[in-house]
Amino acid sequence: MPIDINKIRSEFPILNQKIHGKDYVYLDNGATTQKPIQVIDAVSDFYKNTNSNIHRGVHHLSDLSTKAYEAVRSKVQNFINAEQEQEIIFTKGTTDSINLVAFSFGERYINTGDEIIISAMEHHSNLVPWQMLCERKGANLRVLPFNKNGELEMDKLPGLLNDKTKLLAVTHVSNSLGTINPVKEIIEQAHKANVPVLIDGAQSIQHSIIDVQDLDCDFYVFSGHKIYAETGIGVLYGKEKYLKEMPPYQGGGDMVDHVTLEKTTYLDAPFKFEAGTANYVGAVSLGVAIDYINDIGLKNIAEYEAELLQYATAELEKIEGLTIYGKAKHKTATISFLLDKIHHYDTGMILDKLGIAVRTGSHCTQPIMDFLDITGTVRASFAFYNTKNDVDRLVAGILKVKEMFA
Ligand code: PMP
Repeated sequence: MPIDINKIRSEFPILNQKIHGKDYVYLDNGATTQKPIQVIDAVSDFYKNTNSNIHRGVHHLSDLSTKAYEAVRSKVQNFINAEQEQEIIFTKGTTDSINLVAFSFGERYINTGDEIIISAMEHHSNLVPWQMLCERKGANLRVLPFNKNGELEMDKLPGLLNDKTKLLAVTHVSNSLGTINPVKEIIEQAHKANVPVLIDGAQSIQHSIIDVQDLDCDFYVFSGHKIYAETGIGVLYGKEKYLKEMPPYQGGGDMVDHVTLEKTTYLDAPFKFEAGTANYVGAVSLGVAIDYINDIGLKNIAEYEAELLQYATAELEKIEGLTIYGKAKHKTATISFLLDKIHHYDTGMILDKLGIAVRTGSHCTQPIMDFLDITGTVRASFAFYNTKNDVDRLVAGILKVKEMFA
């Protein structure tokens, strides 16, 4: 079923405005996605009619708030096909989810001399927490490299997996290069060596159907704000067998079973990992965003975005002096590029003046930039509300930049 682009665009109010006097072209979806009116209205309605703190009230609205929050847990479970609801933990976002695992899994399972594998194309969020863990525990980080096209060098993986390997953490989709990594194959290989796998789903959850049981990943993490929901809400999926063993990450209200001044016992997962007042309104927004996406259909979204990627790549490749970074066979609709010797920042600034929002810099992936021997790129990242007209505007903008620097 083709997607109804006019209807969709009318549902994202922010897209229908002028920036610097020009129709707005938003191509920074890798950083955050815009919100449909359904999500915006649901948040407003919740504050108008339902708001009350969850889990500890006997009064009516507290009960409604709690039910709304827990209903989203079950919605997320279905959305990613987790086996059990208790395997869904609400966090602040991808970074928070990864830090939770790095601390908590680290406390339970990582010892001096152990090894953790990541790839060389990780977002800093899936790199720094593991470096911190290794420093804390005297463990070592091993790195799976990628090639000039931006594809992981899979033949190097068997050589990295050994008896000391305790975890492998890898991104499903690179936020800088757009590469879709062969995570199923990675998980299979890691499991053969008894190594659990964490998948950073920050850039995959919004572009493709995720089935954590089919992937057989041990952890999967994502952020609400990149999937059309509010900021400050995210998800950590973890297999029960690990969550049961992992100690809490933070202490406080809502995660305890019994507290005395001497000792505290904790609730089971997921509550053990949700200390303090949860972002229950954020969770509600995530539930509405999931409904919104399900209505359009992730399969339709993936097909539409693939067509946009193909068109955008072909059009950008026609521009003389433009280099695309990240030419993997399997990509999401994210294109990183540089123009002649023009600094990415200058290109981004001029595009902004033309009403076109792109991201410039290292995109929190400095090791990728080091590998490519550049300081950063211009990144255009697309969502299903973007159009071929947006691509044409980008191309015209780039030609204008070229003209100004000629
Ligand atoms: N991993 C990847 C691949 C990302 O793209 C991002 C966000 N750019 C993150 C992790 C971090 O997400 P957040 O800032 O929402 O925690």
